[in-house]
Amino acid sequence: MQIDFQKSPDGLVPAIIQDAVTKNVLMLGYMNKEALEKTMAESKVTFFSRSKNRLWTKGEESGNFLLLQDIKVDCDQDTILIKATPVGPVCHTGADTCWDEQNIGNDFLAKLENIIADRKNNPSDKSYTSGLFSRGINKIAQKVGEEAVEVVIEAKDNNDALFLNESADLLFHYLILLQAKGFQLADVLAVLKERHK
Ligand code: AMP
Ligand code: ZN
Ligand code: ZN
Ligand code: ZN
Repeated sequence: MQIDFQKSPDGLVPAIIQDAVTKNVLMLGYMNKEALEKTMAESKVTFFSRSKNRLWTKGEESGNFLLLQDIKVDCDQDTILIKATPVGPVCHTGADTCWDEQNIGNDFLAKLENIIADRKNNPSDKSYTSGLFSRGINKIAQKVGEEAVEVVIEAKDNNDALFLNESADLLFHYLILLQAKGFQLADVLAVLKERHK
C-alpha cells in the first residue's frame, strides 16, 4: 500500500473511520507509518494521537476498539479510509459516532438485522424470534403472508396507527424471512440498484 506520509511535515495522514456495516462516518484520526503498521498487524485501529503525542489504540482504556475490516487509500495517496466494526460507542462522549447520527433508517435496520441474526445463531427459549426460526422457513413465510394481508386490510381503512403497526410487523417478519433464507436487506437492495442502472 502506497501512502504519502511525507506530504505533511509531521508525517501524519488523516484516517476517516467508517462503520463497515452502517457506512456511517464514525470518527477521524491521524496515522503515521507506525500507526498504520500496528493497525494492520493487530487488526485494531491505532492512531498517532496529537494530544497524547504517542501511538493510541482506540479503545485502549475503554475497551471500545475499532476492529479493522478494510483499508482504502484515496486518489492521491494522502488520506486513508478505514472500514471498521466498532465494539462499543466510538466517541468519548459515549455516542456511537463523533457526529450526529447519520442515515438513521439504515443504521437501525442494520442493528435490527444483527439482533435477528443473533436470535437465529444463539437461540433463547424466551425469544419470539428464536421460536420462529425453530419452526422453520414455511412457518416464517406464512407469517410474512399474514402480515402482508393485514397491511392490505389496514390500507383500506382510515386508521393510520393500525396501518403503521402492521407495516412494522411486515417489515420485521420480512427481515426474519430474509435471515432464514441466508440473506440480508443489502442483498435485496443490490438487486434494486442493479435494476436502476
Ligand atoms: P479509548 O481509546 O476509547 O480507550 O479512550 C481513551 C481516551 O481517548 C479518551 O479518554 C479520550 O480522551 C480519547 N478519545 C476516545 N475516543 C475518542 C474520539 N472518538 N475522538 C477523540 N478522542 C477520543
Ligand atoms: Zn487526497
Ligand atoms: Zn468524539
Ligand atoms: Zn400484524
